Amino acid sequence: MTAMLNVKDLRAYYGQVQALHGLNFSLNEGSLTTLLGANGAGKTTTLRAICNMVRSTGAIEFEGKPIGTRSTENVVRLGIAHVPQGRGTFTTMTVEENLQLGAISRSDKKAIVDDIERMYTHFPVLKQRYTQQAGTLSGGEQQMLAVARALMLRPRLMLLDEPSFGLAPLIVRDLFGILGKINREEKVTILVVEQNAQLALELADQAYVIETGRIVMSGNAKDIANNEDVRKSYLGY
Ligand code: ATP
Repeated sequence: MTAMLNVKDLRAYYGQVQALHGLNFSLNEGSLTTLLGANGAGKTTTLRAICNMVRSTGAIEFEGKPIGTRSTENVVRLGIAHVPQGRGTFTTMTVEENLQLGAISRSDKKAIVDDIERMYTHFPVLKQRYTQQAGTLSGGEQQMLAVARALMLRPRLMLLDEPSFGLAPLIVRDLFGILGKINREEKVTILVVEQNAQLALELADQAYVIETGRIVMSGNAKDIANNEDVRKSYLGY
């Protein structure tokens, strides 16, 4: 399999504070990978560094192109969508307006209409609420809208930061089920940062574990789930 994203010796800084200490990892095209780690381990910073939203050094290559020095806008245009923690939908706009905004950099009007319909197939709850203001949706619905909006970019790679945060377990299962489907059917490569290790390892095919800004373990998600240290530290049994 070809590596779609290659990250080498990534270091990131917030002023004097170093948050990543030489991260190395890669994502295979078509994979669904989870990045696990405790609070403050550097998961969010990793996603932010890929999108060039934090000062960093090292090499990041996406589909063979170095992207470490490109602007966030440029990275997005190359096909990387970022769904940050806390959803970030436009609360005073309707569901449908949010989806249209997701496609703002595209000019293929007919395909945009088709894509919105496809999003409603993936997320039927959004279809029921297409005229509703995003700010009045439930937490789970807002998270679904954030993912759907990111998909309106037609990304090749989607970065998701703690999609399960604050959601009821049943909603998380539902959302993760849809993410798996999007990965398989839409061929979107996905990197998902999660504290809910159990669910993330069920969903993903590959996994990395990050501790204090360094990758300490990597492998196929099933093997990682069976690893004794991971079980004790992240799965609680
Ligand atoms: P969580 O699961 O709690 O969101 P995380 O693994 O995503 O944690 P990061 O948010 O990437 O962790 O933070 C990594 C380190 O960088 C932490 O030590 C954090 O305190 C520090 N950090 C993050 N954002 C800033 C900031 N804006 N200014 C200074 N330090 C920061």
